[in-house]
Amino acid sequence: MQKIRDVIIIGCGVVGAATAYALARYDVDVLILEKENDVSSGTSKANSAILHAGYDPRPGSLMATLNVAGSRLSKTICHDLNVPYINCGSLVLAFSDADLITLESLLERGRQNGVEGLEILPPERLFELEPKLSRHVKGALLARTAAIVNPWEFTLAMAENAVENGTTLRLNEKVTAIRKVTDGYEVETNQDVHRARFVINAAGAHADTIHNMIAPPAFRIIPDKGEYYVLDKSEGTRVRHIIFQCPTPLGKGTLVAPTTDGNLIVGPNNELTEKKEDTVTSARGLVEVKERAFKSVPSIDFSQNVRNFSGVRAATEIDDFIIGEADGSPGFFDLAGIKSPGLTAAAAIGEMAVTLLAGRGLALTPRVNLVTKRNKIRFNRMSVEEKKTLISANPDYGQIVCRCESVTLGEVKAALHSPIPAVSVEGVKRRCHAGSGRCQGGFCGPRVVEIIAAEHGISPLDVPLDRAGSTILIGRTKGGDA
Ligand SMILES: Cc1cc2nc3c(=O)[nH]c(=O)nc-3n(C[C@H](O)[C@H](O)[C@H](O)COP(=O)(O)OP(=O)(O)OC[C@H]3O[C@@H](n4cnc5c(N)ncnc54)[C@H](O)[C@@H]3O)c2cc1C
Repeated sequence: MQKIRDVIIIGCGVVGAATAYALARYDVDVLILEKENDVSSGTSKANSAILHAGYDPRPGSLMATLNVAGSRLSKTICHDLNVPYINCGSLVLAFSDADLITLESLLERGRQNGVEGLEILPPERLFELEPKLSRHVKGALLARTAAIVNPWEFTLAMAENAVENGTTLRLNEKVTAIRKVTDGYEVETNQDVHRARFVINAAGAHADTIHNMIAPPAFRIIPDKGEYYVLDKSEGTRVRHIIFQCPTPLGKGTLVAPTTDGNLIVGPNNELTEKKEDTVTSARGLVEVKERAFKSVPSIDFSQNVRNFSGVRAATEIDDFIIGEADGSPGFFDLAGIKSPGLTAAAAIGEMAVTLLAGRGLALTPRVNLVTKRNKIRFNRMSVEEKKTLISANPDYGQIVCRCESVTLGEVKAALHSPIPAVSVEGVKRRCHAGSGRCQGGFCGPRVVEIIAAEHGISPLDVPLDRAGSTILIGRTKGGDA
């Protein structure tokens, strides 16, 4: 019989990770169950990477409160856990008189939501800030608190910190059934059966499936896909702010923004899809994104595209996040329908989840010897002197593996032996950027496979590209030794 944990969190995207991070401040026994072989394998790795200021959600909604609180908390967390974060500010562009009225209402909403630093700029001031904007722009709402973040690393950093503070993370464990038992819940996975007094449903696009395992259906996830371009660093300074167009009922529209790695991100569109994990991109969708982006910034050079991707929004029929105890299931909490601004709000959602659990009797004794910081070596951001010192202490940092991004063998090895070790080529890339540059792993990919195999003591044939089973090599050539 498994021991009875305090809390089981289902799903380790940004919401599950933020909840684990918030719970780990206390002496609580937490288990995270994640169906994939790495954290942040769902929507949290495929979004616009914006920490929204909070002028968009309807005042009084959970989205509004948690967006504004989350944007402040995320800044502190990124600082503490050494996550790339840039407070670049955002601009919502107006192209017509009707859009100018929309800007006024966004400004008013923002003020009601408690967003600081909002201002409507006339074209002259706007073009000083952003000279490459279309000359058809008639004004813009500046939101000074908006920021960009590396969403994947944000999620990983919170999950790593939780693990370092005693949380157990079980990867490759897909929850298949949940049963109410006397002292809490029994959660069955493809590998095991676990027990806990409380359960948190943070399963993203699958949150309805998890909810329906224990309670009557209360909401339905309607997957809504958004596609993107990531352009080379040569385009990375095309704009300095996050450039939005006026929001529509479908969402925040297509944006153009710098990334924390110095690239330019352009997207998304909206496309309802049948499948919750439909992350293919289409020529039609990408053309749509390109045309919309040209309206804001006509000079973007799309020939510098290095990658396309898409992410699936966990939209529901309800115009808000769905956070609370499931009907008839005391101690089972949904953190569901977490569409945008879910990345921004996650840290506040995590804190709210802790409050809900405490309200149901979870004791919150502060953890002794809490780990609060995270060290991370980023070789390509170091000075020459710092690099010399590092290499003399560990020669692995003197061997470049990824030429595009100047990622060293030391960093790849660190990714493979971190608190949540990378197990795939993409997992290495997400942790240390090997393969994320202009050639997208064309040169370093085979070397990374070799290093993963050597460090994890497995055959290169068993090294996945990303998800479990996505192997790259299918056999040995005659006389080959790989
Ligand atoms: C196109 C797009 C753009 C966006 N842009 C922004 C933005 O700029 N700013 C912003 O604030 N928000 C943005 N968002 C929203 C934000 O990305 C999401 O709100 C957030 O990532 C949701 O996190 P999550 O943890 O709920 O879901 P996910 O990241 O999807 O995590 C859910 C996890 O649960 C796991 N899981 C599912 N089923 C099971 C099971 N049965 N057993 C075990 N594990 C399971 C999954 O594998 C996954 O890892 C955007 C979303 C999209 C799609």
